[in-house]
Amino acid sequence: MNKNIIEKLQILADAAKYDVSCASSGVNKKNTGKIGSSQASGICHTWASDGRCVSLLKILLSNDCAYDCEYCVNRLSNDVRRASFTPEEVAELTIEFYRRNYIEGLFLSSAVEKNPNHTMEKIVKTLLILRNQYGFSGYIHVKAIPGADKILIHQAGELADRMSVNIELPTEAGLKLLAPQKTMKKLFLPMDQIKQEIGRSKYELARYRHAKSFVPAGQSTQMIVGATKESDMDMINITDQLYKKFSLKRVYFSAYVPVNQGGNLPAISSTTAPMLREHRLYQADWLLRFYKFKANELLDQSNPNFDKDFDPKMMWALRNIKEFPKEINKVSVNELLRIPGIGMISARRILKQRKIRNITFDDLKKMGVVVKRARFFITCGGKYYGEKNLDPENIKNILNPVPPYEQLSLKI
Ligand code: SF4
Repeated sequence: MNKNIIEKLQILADAAKYDVSCASSGVNKKNTGKIGSSQASGICHTWASDGRCVSLLKILLSNDCAYDCEYCVNRLSNDVRRASFTPEEVAELTIEFYRRNYIEGLFLSSAVEKNPNHTMEKIVKTLLILRNQYGFSGYIHVKAIPGADKILIHQAGELADRMSVNIELPTEAGLKLLAPQKTMKKLFLPMDQIKQEIGRSKYELARYRHAKSFVPAGQSTQMIVGATKESDMDMINITDQLYKKFSLKRVYFSAYVPVNQGGNLPAISSTTAPMLREHRLYQADWLLRFYKFKANELLDQSNPNFDKDFDPKMMWALRNIKEFPKEINKVSVNELLRIPGIGMISARRILKQRKIRNITFDDLKKMGVVVKRARFFITCGGKYYGEKNLDPENIKNILNPVPPYEQLSLKI
């Protein structure tokens, strides 16, 4: 491979690792001389519209950004190695990697090179070469660059499988502080266009044989956790709105990585918490999408952040302890899913078994229920196996006992 291309690939695959809006990004694993060495950058995985897991070449088209978002390694004011691919180079790389069986598709993001239209034109040109010149029909995920012309977003959408617009920060105030060239309005415009066009294309595909598909795997976005002062409640409220307003497939969360220094950025010492926050937000996102929870049930003004010791579902149950215990043989499926320790699979097994006979406490473990957690919130055939004292603090203490204070000995 051309030395210049290898250098560009190193820079632009590495710069792409901060974008988590595909299902998995890699991990660094150094096993020099052995099988299994890997870099966090380069290849990621995602699920195609038919549910297959596919590996993608994950790169930026350019890291030469005209914008100056304070949190970003590629910002205009940073002194980092810059590189930009041409559309021909990206298309050739994708095809060469595909032929070698390294990848099944492409995840193409980009900094704003010169301006949004210039960048989006390059993205569209890359897709046109791949689809028309090389006949590549594999999975492609591309960024929609906010501020680009509608026609360019439309062209990209007809060629890509998935598109994403990263909103990065959950509030207008956050954007103003750290990404002043962006506004919520500018970010929401392409999201809305993609949503409308997906709807139109689904309608046409159901009626006309030759209708064109538009972003068949849907759109996603990414938000940074912990770069600004927004609470988990702010994050989860906007997540809920994004799902409802733009029918997003996924909202990804990315714990803030301190790559820059700046007066408006969090101090480096305070940046260890975002990993746990990211984990809790993913748990809450799961509850919103599959467990029919509403954002305002998970957090409110009196509880604006998730607990560090207990997951959002457990915290919801403890706040609503008066609704429990529930009889496992009678509760509706929605109520069943709200019981801590019962997930989708165990709920399905309980429903199936209930049709045949009553479920006993001993059956639950075999069905995959985490009995240790569920026992406080259920009865089986009218029998309760939890604690007499249903006080939330007591349950918390049993589930996660506070280590006893050590008596310091006094040497005289
Ligand atoms: S526009 Fe994107 S690449 Fe450019 S500085 Fe902002 S976050 Fe970074």
